Amino acid sequence: MKKGVGMSNLSKQRRIQNEQLFRDINKQLQTTVKYLLENSETSTVLIEFYCECSDRLCMDRIELTAKEFESIERKQNVFVIKPGHNHPDLEKVVSKRRGLELVRKFIPTLK
Ligand SMILES: [Zn+2]
Repeated sequence: MKKGVGMSNLSKQRRIQNEQLFRDINKQLQTTVKYLLENSETSTVLIEFYCECSDRLCMDRIELTAKEFESIERKQNVFVIKPGHNHPDLEKVVSKRRGLELVRKFIPTLK
């Protein structure tokens, strides 16, 4: 192997696994979100979750209210990322909203 292996040399599968990891972390927030949605006052509380882009060093957070989080359609292979964090070779932007973009993977993930 050559020295200095950078992001661009990471396999596509590996990068997708990275997105899957943050997606799983974000999924765990759903219990909290459900709880917040039970009350109209807390349904607009801002929650932070991780950008699900394929950059493994990206630790950016996306701020959304519980209501907004709940309204995101969690279809298979659709990930939530910060605007501009998409990789056109891996995914396609399917929806844009304030502060976030939804992307769909070309390659199916394991789950
Ligand atoms: Zn990102």
